Amino acid sequence: MQKGTINVQTENIFPIIKKFLYSDHEIFLRELVSNAVDATQKLKILAASDKFKGELGDLTIKVELDKKNKTLKVIDRGIGMTAEEVDKYINQIAFSSAEEFIKKYKGKSEADKNALIGHFGLGFYSSFMVAEKVEILTKTYKKGGPSKAVKWECDGSPEYTLEEMEKDDRGTEIVLHIADDSKEFLEEYRILELLKKYSKFLPVPIQFGMEKVSEKTGKKDKDGHDEYKQVEKPRIINNTNPAWTQKPTNLSDEDYKNFYRELYPMNFEDPLFHIHLNVDYPFNLTGILYFPKVKRNIEVQRDKIQLYCNQVFVTDSVEGIVPDFLTLLHGVIDSPDIPLNVSRSYLQSDASVKKISNHIMKKVSDKLEEIFKNNREDFEKKWDDIKVFIQYGMISEPKFYEKAEKLALFKNVDGKYFTFDEYKLHIEKTQKDKENKLVYLYTTDKDEQHAFIEAAKERGYDVLEMNGILDNHFINALEQKFENTSFARVDADTIDKIIKKEDVQPSKLNEEDQEKLKPLFEKYMNKENYHVQFESLSENDQPVIITQPEFMRRMKDMSKLGGGLDYMGNLPDSYNLVVNSNHKLISEILSEKNNKKQEDLVKQLTDLARLSQNLLKGQELTEFIKRSVDLIGK
Ligand code: ADP
Repeated sequence: MQKGTINVQTENIFPIIKKFLYSDHEIFLRELVSNAVDATQKLKILAASDKFKGELGDLTIKVELDKKNKTLKVIDRGIGMTAEEVDKYINQIAFSSAEEFIKKYKGKSEADKNALIGHFGLGFYSSFMVAEKVEILTKTYKKGGPSKAVKWECDGSPEYTLEEMEKDDRGTEIVLHIADDSKEFLEEYRILELLKKYSKFLPVPIQFGMEKVSEKTGKKDKDGHDEYKQVEKPRIINNTNPAWTQKPTNLSDEDYKNFYRELYPMNFEDPLFHIHLNVDYPFNLTGILYFPKVKRNIEVQRDKIQLYCNQVFVTDSVEGIVPDFLTLLHGVIDSPDIPLNVSRSYLQSDASVKKISNHIMKKVSDKLEEIFKNNREDFEKKWDDIKVFIQYGMISEPKFYEKAEKLALFKNVDGKYFTFDEYKLHIEKTQKDKENKLVYLYTTDKDEQHAFIEAAKERGYDVLEMNGILDNHFINALEQKFENTSFARVDADTIDKIIKKEDVQPSKLNEEDQEKLKPLFEKYMNKENYHVQFESLSENDQPVIITQPEFMRRMKDMSKLGGGLDYMGNLPDSYNLVVNSNHKLISEILSEKNNKKQEDLVKQLTDLARLSQNLLKGQELTEFIKRSVDLIGK
């Protein structure tokens, strides 16, 4: 038996490793299983190139839990190690990286420690985070010479033992004697959870325990139905051949959907479409990204992309790794160039990660363009679901805006879709204001603003539907991009004021009349956020109309969405009470001698206008109803 000290200068590494990685000590299992997979893959490669001629046999990696003896084992049938190799890889190389870490780690501030953890993959030695003693039983695939099986043992102190042993099977068995403060790793559910998290798509089958499954017996029952029996089978944790590792030409739409369900078993809605990523220059990257149906609450859908490194799960938080708007996508990205074992901040600053991010953005816009060009109808069908995503990208990423401006759509209240260019042509001749600016009319609620939409349509104008969560921000962004253009909600002002009209109606009421009437309306609406004004609209327009100044309203709406304009949210809403000086009823109010009757008419018309804007509530609504009933009775 050989005894040795891993490194004389080092003290007991066990407590230090344990302390430093404390918050993340579950990763030990990922490391051990990954090592087992590597050893197995190496053997397969040797076999493929004829350097290994023996039997490969069943290469399944086994994870075994023995609660009574407090051990957890990871067993592979990979290349194994000779005594020399254990000495080289475990005692020297792997240890030196653990040792280097500890050297750097000591005497650092908390913040620096955190950053440092990010740069280190401790691999095998991370098992000392949870074990008080670790054994390696290993037998190389090599024949003859110094190929006897060996057993290495270490309790985390710098002393280890290495001795020859009898072992039938080729490969490596790592035995962890779980420490008392890490008992959670002796629980089956916990190990299962970790394997499912980190190893779900590893390329070599991994078995953990047994599971009961129903199997057909081949017989039929008396009703002619298949008979089933319960059988115990090895429980295989992983899908060794996940869709993203396969050739797109070999996959059907259904395969992609099935893989989506495998990734998100709790997500019951199918994705809209997918993008299969496959890059080998200037970096390696594979993956599948899905466009989910975006819901109103986009936050719950965020951060679902899973990042893998050679099929080993790294993280499911890609924030800062891909552009913000892409975090709304779902799916998998796998790249050996994504450094494993590093911290978030390190990932974000990594140059290859940045390249990956740009590449993905390009792929996404290419795919959108492809659907748009090849099948406009299909694109329009998907538009309502993908619009938030595209708008988000256009607002936040100038590069994406350039790509997307050719395919982004407007939808009008009649459900017709236009590209930006098409829409401009559509309204160019009819919708200009006094300063010759092009006016885009929109509604945020077809029902609530119905009367205003009708008024606009009657005049031959087009109204866009802008009821999405990001539309307010989007409108602001477009006003910056489009030249000589403004957006106005249909109730921002009376339509004739928004859009220039050649034949302005002469007012039936002169200024003197208006001065007489104004106090009557002001007296009733003695609220500081209502401003009474007269306009000479058509006599067929409503007698009283309530509008909402565009700018103020938009700012307030944006502040509700948390656009950093919180102070705006506290301002009261501001309204214009527009009195149509050409309406018959307004003239009647003016000439009405009975004060009570005159007042009732003012109240009634004002309340009707408020009602059509959904502004009449509570006691005022009750009074309005009572007054209406009285009026009908007369
Ligand atoms: P890394 O895996 O990053 O190289 P580790 O500390 O995890 O670092 O492992 C050190 C070395 O020990 C590996 O590179 C490999 O040569 C060897 N090794 C670890 N586990 C196994 C195993 N199950 N079978 C064969 N060799 C192994």
